[in-house]
Amino acid sequence: METTIAVIGGGYTGLAAAVALAQNGYPVVLAAQENDAAWRGASEAEIQRLKSFQQQAAGHPSIDILPQASLTEAAGIPGDFTLTFLSEGSSVEKKAGAVVVATDLSAAPLMNRYGLTPSSSVVSLSEMEALLASENGKKEIGDKKKTVAFLMGFAQEGNPLLMQRVLESVQNIVGMEGCTAYVYVNNLKVAEDGLERQYKQGRDNGAIYFKLQAAPAISENNGELRVTFYDPVIRNDIELSPDMLVVEENLIADQQNASLAEILRIDMGPAGFLQKENVHRLPVNTNREGIFVVGGSRDVQNTSKSLADVDNMLLRVKQLIGGGTKTVTTKAVVDREKCTICLTCYRCCPHGAIYWDDKAVISPAACQGCGICASECPMDAIQLYDFTDGEMTARIKEAAAVPAKPNAPKIIAFCCQNSAFEAGTAAQLFRYDLPAGLQIIKIPCAGKVDINYILNALVEGADGVIVMACHTGNCKSESGNTYAKWRINDAYRKLEQIGIPKDRLEFATLAANMASDFARIVIDMESRIRQK
Ligand code: SF4
Ligand code: SF4
Repeated sequence: METTIAVIGGGYTGLAAAVALAQNGYPVVLAAQENDAAWRGASEAEIQRLKSFQQQAAGHPSIDILPQASLTEAAGIPGDFTLTFLSEGSSVEKKAGAVVVATDLSAAPLMNRYGLTPSSSVVSLSEMEALLASENGKKEIGDKKKTVAFLMGFAQEGNPLLMQRVLESVQNIVGMEGCTAYVYVNNLKVAEDGLERQYKQGRDNGAIYFKLQAAPAISENNGELRVTFYDPVIRNDIELSPDMLVVEENLIADQQNASLAEILRIDMGPAGFLQKENVHRLPVNTNREGIFVVGGSRDVQNTSKSLADVDNMLLRVKQLIGGGTKTVTTKAVVDREKCTICLTCYRCCPHGAIYWDDKAVISPAACQGCGICASECPMDAIQLYDFTDGEMTARIKEAAAVPAKPNAPKIIAFCCQNSAFEAGTAAQLFRYDLPAGLQIIKIPCAGKVDINYILNALVEGADGVIVMACHTGNCKSESGNTYAKWRINDAYRKLEQIGIPKDRLEFATLAANMASDFARIVIDMESRIRQK
């Protein structure tokens, strides 16, 4: 395995990742961009830490910094990626054993949503932070003993990271003699370490919070601001005239994320972050082994959570790359004689585990053994160890041959090992009154269920067949449940053609902890069959 690790993103999290990797003996290629050097709203301690990361990264002999670098191409498999960057106008090729995406969050001002126009007295949160970070800015606010008002949580649901930034600025302002801070807020989002304390400290130092149901009315006349809102306690309107108004921002994913997702062939989740809401992807994993996402590249999170991501990433890199040698177990193989290079497996593999060496080849380090490719290959050229077609046929035959009680319908349930198999095992352990003729066949992923398995089970004597997959969005192989559903629909058509009632076949989705739902599904099928 190549031991160099590529880190994409030179902001707080990227620098922290590069330093942590280098300190653990991994050479690092750090692809940085000019605008990702700072962290908005960082506390003084965080700014010092960022500076320390910058110094450590710049001076570390194992960190190769590519300035102004963006990824343009990527190929390869875990332990052997080839990455091409455009750095300062030149194309640079680098080898890496793993890739860490550490792009940071961007901020989008929400002035429009409040009907406000930026001016010297109406500024965004980032602009206020920049003012407070500079001596001139502080002087500007402090000397004039200004009253600064913050607007938060009316144009969007707030979050603790934004709240933290507001609280930091409020602390700074009330710490300046003669200055006052008002915070107009919808919901106070303080569900993070230390935020409640920070909020109370701000109040103790004179900050005033107005918790409102709707945004206050704001007008500006010749630079004079008026903020008006209804107070339900005194049952009257209140009007205040702050010197400055600070408008909240939306924290958004880095613009590079979309192209990184495409080039690296990793899934993009909601709002442009590089992780889907899939329980199997936590905390730093992507759909591809060897490509990890940390910090703001995967979600809106603060610096301490981003640093926790860096620790998790380091563990995963050590697990994958170790000292450069890894023993892997082959999970699936391609019969080169049968392969016609149709590209089907390359397109359907959700883990990017297939590459080419004249014919399709499966990387044992990347393959997750889901079996989707094996069931999709039109030439039956792929076999999955432990679940070869021959073994599956024998298991189906064996399951159908288990003698059931007289008149007990035989039901074969193909259960994904990541969800329904666990639910079925729990249902048995909890002694649910399961059908006497039920046989459970474990499969690595519902995407491995071939239409032939279903037809075979019926031919071998099963009265009913159920395919049980993970819930939508929670398939470990992302699309295994979708492939299974398509094949079930195909099987329905075939059953109709040969005159077998459709209700002898069922598709269901479950989570591993849904033992009672498992029981309900199989019992329902049994009673349907009995009614015939
Ligand atoms: S799907 Fe089968 S035939 Fe097509 S490229 Fe892959 S292994 Fe070869
Ligand atoms: S078994 Fe799954 S992970 Fe492995 S190559 Fe096939 S589709 Fe990809």
